[in-house]
Amino acid sequence: DQSQPKKPDWIRVKAPGGKGYADTRRIMRDNNLVTVCEEAGCPNVGECWSQGHATMMIMGEICTRGCTFCNIATGRPDALDAFEPGRVAHAVEKLGLNHVVITSVDRDDLDDGGAEHFAQTIRAIRHRSPSTTIEILTPDFLKCAPEVLEVVVAAKPDVFNHNLETVPGLYPEVRPGARYFHSLRLLQRVKELDPSIFTKSGIMVGLGETEQQVRQVMDDMRAADIDFLTIGQYLQPTPKHHRVDRFVTPEEFASYEKAAYGKGFLMVSATPLTRSSYHAGDDFARLRDA
Ligand code: SF4
Ligand code: SF4
Repeated sequence: DQSQPKKPDWIRVKAPGGKGYADTRRIMRDNNLVTVCEEAGCPNVGECWSQGHATMMIMGEICTRGCTFCNIATGRPDALDAFEPGRVAHAVEKLGLNHVVITSVDRDDLDDGGAEHFAQTIRAIRHRSPSTTIEILTPDFLKCAPEVLEVVVAAKPDVFNHNLETVPGLYPEVRPGARYFHSLRLLQRVKELDPSIFTKSGIMVGLGETEQQVRQVMDDMRAADIDFLTIGQYLQPTPKHHRVDRFVTPEEFASYEKAAYGKGFLMVSATPLTRSSYHAGDDFARLRDA
């Protein structure tokens, strides 16, 4: 059955517009930067960009993977742009952000998976905006030597985020090319290499997983010492993408959040419109001030 459940009224988004939104858009264009907000057609773009919260996507617009939930083009990426870290740092300074989230496409074509480029981007932001906290949302570096992770960790991001995306049973149809336990282990290694870095991961729900499976993922994450968790509703970007199995109710999200805090996560965001980078800065500031 390929029919989609009807979008419920709790998936409501504000149309983009206003001065803040326009300013953010201009800074992204002026610096020739790509954002996951636009590439993924994120429903929160109106709200986030009005506050300057744009999640920049480095290393190009073409990904070497083809996750079935994701709207980013798959193919052979362009060469890395050595000036990109500088442009990202310039944009972060212009946006005046307290906290920035930087993500990327997956680059299985590069020996280091883009680890050095991530590290350069972190260093460039630090140099220009020393008080801005930096969150990176990375690929899994599955095809690389394990040591490449050390390059990224040595650049000392404040938060190291890598999404598990879904429950392990759905990997073949949702995240082909990735390995559930490799991703978990990646995050655990970050913590082992530098316990001062917060680790974070997230999943989408509504792809066909059961509640029990979601709770098992939470347990696996805690066993890997993951600090922060995000859970949001999967929305189908185009009819060619993985179908929405169901819309998880706000009450179910609240129950996931409660369960997650009970399991010891330091910070949890579980709502229908939660995305990996949604309110990331506010949540992080609250945690630091607590
Ligand atoms: Fe961008 Fe993240 Fe906000 Fe979506 S939630 S608009 S991806 S910053
Ligand atoms: Fe999209 Fe990331 Fe999967 Fe690439 S690896 S297809 S960017 S989710």
